[in-house]
Amino acid sequence: HTGWIEVVCGSMFSGKTEELIRRIRRAEYAKQKVKIFKPAIDVRYDESDVVSHNKNAVESTPVQHAIEILPLATDFEVIGIDEAQFFDEQIVEVCNTLADQGKRVILSGLDMDFQRNPFGPMPALMASAEYITKLHAVCMSCGEPAQYSYRTAASEDKVLLGEQEAYEARCRKCYLEGEAEK
Ligand code: ADP
Ligand code: MG
Ligand code: ZN
Repeated sequence: HTGWIEVVCGSMFSGKTEELIRRIRRAEYAKQKVKIFKPAIDVRYDESDVVSHNKNAVESTPVQHAIEILPLATDFEVIGIDEAQFFDEQIVEVCNTLADQGKRVILSGLDMDFQRNPFGPMPALMASAEYITKLHAVCMSCGEPAQYSYRTAASEDKVLLGEQEAYEARCRKCYLEGEAEK
């Protein structure tokens, strides 16, 4: 049998990691063999664990390049990948190979960067996926559903790791209002 690819996307604080952890836990209850990877760049909370903003955590393996995932995934039925936006373009091929081998691949990642551009390999991953879930955070200005990661810190770097001190979730209206004030 073949597997499939699931993508969980959305802004920061939208609950992507929480949702990834929820799906992984349920696979574990079903006695499936599960392994989780994350890009080595993401060390905000822990060197190896995948941790959500509310401090929910599961063990994971940090890898530098997407291609390293293939040999490490051999013995597992369900593969979780967090912060997928930080991986190189080869992640798409890697995920398709894993799914072709019969594995369930669950990816979570930011669909847009703080400038509202598609983030890294996420568009291609979403195109390859059988299932896509887009989550929303709560807008920190007005309380409506938020789809943007608004950067409050002054830095133009595409990758600026951080959370409450550097970013907040904003809806379209409040994102635009913030940009107009800058
Ligand atoms: P993501 O991986 O998408 O960044 P997480 O799963 O790590 O999100 O965190 C989701 C959690 O973040 C929520 O359950 C909540 O406790 C917390 N949180 C903080 N700020 C917000 C916000 N503006 N909207 C929604 N949740 C928020
Ligand atoms: Mg996350
Ligand atoms: Zn708003």
